[in-house]
Order: sequence, then C-alpha cells, then structure tokens
Amino acid sequence: MEQALYVELIALALSGGHAVAAPAERQQQAAEPQQALAIVAEPRIVKPEDWSRACKDGDDWDKPGPPFKVYGNTYYVGTCGITILFVAGENGTVLIDTGTEKGIWLALENVARIGHDPTRIGLLLYSHEHFDHVGGMAAAQNYTLAPMLASPEAAEVLRTGKDNPRDPQAGMHEPMRPATNIIAIEPGRPVTFGGIAFTPISTPGHTPGALSWQWEACERDVCKTIVYADSLSPISSDTYRFSDNPEYVAAYRAGLAKLGALECDILLTPHPSASEMITRARNGTLEGGMTCAQYADSKIKALDERLAKEAAGK
Ligand SMILES: [Zn+2]
Repeated sequence: MEQALYVELIALALSGGHAVAAPAERQQQAAEPQQALAIVAEPRIVKPEDWSRACKDGDDWDKPGPPFKVYGNTYYVGTCGITILFVAGENGTVLIDTGTEKGIWLALENVARIGHDPTRIGLLLYSHEHFDHVGGMAAAQNYTLAPMLASPEAAEVLRTGKDNPRDPQAGMHEPMRPATNIIAIEPGRPVTFGGIAFTPISTPGHTPGALSWQWEACERDVCKTIVYADSLSPISSDTYRFSDNPEYVAAYRAGLAKLGALECDILLTPHPSASEMITRARNGTLEGGMTCAQYADSKIKALDERLAKEAAGK
C-alpha cells in the first residue's frame, strides 16, 4: 500500500516537474534485508588513485573493488569491471546501475562502507537494459523498495526480464529476474530527487532503451557537471545488421550528437575501460582526460566502421 502510494507520489511529482521526496514511513516498511550490511561509523572511502591500483582494465564484472568519491555527492560503488554510482542528495540517495545479480551485493556493501544506509536508497536509475548493468535490479528493489525510472523501451525489458527484439544483441542473453516498481519517463526532462536534478538523455544504439545521465556535484562552491554516458558500442548478434535498420541508426546518431554537445566536466561510463576511467583515476581525479565530445566521436567512428563492414559484406 505504502509502496503504491510512493509510486503515485513520484509519478505525480515527475509529471508536475517537482522534486520527489522520500517519505520516512516507506523506509520503515522495507523488506527484511537478504543480507545484513553493517553501516560503518568511520567511512572507508579510498582515493581515485587507490581504486586504480586495486582494479585493472578487463577485470571481472564481479570482482570487488573499493568505493571512492568521484566528486562532491557522487561516489563510485561498483565492482572493478562494472560502474555503479551512488549519489547522496540532501534528502535522498540514488543508485545508478546495479551490476549483475551478484555485483549488486558488492555495491550495496560499498554503500554501507562509505557510511550510508543501503536500505534507504530512494531511487534507482540505469544506463542500459543488459544483465551486466541491471541484472541486480530486482534484488536492489527487494532490498530498498525503491522505484526505478526507465525509458519506455527499457521499461518493458526490465518488467519481463527478456531482451527487446529490436536490441542488436537480442537472443544473446539469459533472461533477467524481472523488476517490478518501474516508472517510465520521458528522456530529456530532468527528474529531481534528493535535491539533485538528473537529466536523462536518450542514447539508443547499444540497446534501444539506453539512457545517459547528467547532474551536478558540488564541493563547497565549486560545482562540476557529471555525465554518465552509456556504452553506445555497435555490438550485435551474428545475424543483426545495423544497415537494415536505418531508423535505429538515425536515433543512434542523434543520441551521440546530443552526448557530444553536453556540458560535461567529468565523464563516467558503465564499463570503466570504455572511457579509460582506471587510467584517468591515477591522477587523483576523473576530471580531465577523455571528454564527452571525444567519447561520442569514438562511438561515431565505431558505428561508421561497423556500417562500412556491413556494406563490404563482412
Ligand atoms: Zn550491454
């Protein structure tokens, strides 16, 4: 009942463009945790350079890694191989991506390690509807009772756990555990939660329902714009041809153009290796190195190469 009301509240708030508040009553009704995660009194947050020493490019999706602060309210709580972000607003916390069914528990443990209560996560966001990034969504929802926001295309995949037939990789993945509390959103329209405005940007291509996210993180009076840009790699099953789907390719290019033009101080990506995050972290900050424009350009190039290969019959 309480959960249904909360969904209504959030839907109402989204339609009105208002801030979404996390009601305290909801938290008390949270389901029994499947694992007890002790919140530490002394948060253990490593520096970006320590994370880059603990993890390597190509590390396993479920290899545990230490949590570190990206900037201001934004923390990396993912594994070594998959990015999962935790954003602590003034009155609500958000988890972006969950990793795999196993990885989500490592992320929730990392949230506890940085001194936040993982059961109080109030909102779940995602990058794209594949099991390595949202396979843990059902578990995250059971644990937190938080709703998740999804593009209409991804909502169906998350609700059923099955691939979208329009996904270039359709048929290549095992079904995921279905998520339940899903609110379909309109990309482009900012969503405010916990006092932070997150802008969802429609960036289809790697999947039909992929989203990139932009928000602001501040330290004292210095604010940085963070962009969590989706994977956007033109990977597919053996039978799929991008050139047979011109509308899909047009939407793919439109998303890349939007991404490349975004205000973007700090670029983060679902696979750390895709934007050299581990290398960049060595400097003690994720700021600098690859920009959003360079990242988008690299994906345009990859798409063009893929189309050229298809045209050459390879
Ligand atoms: Zn994927």
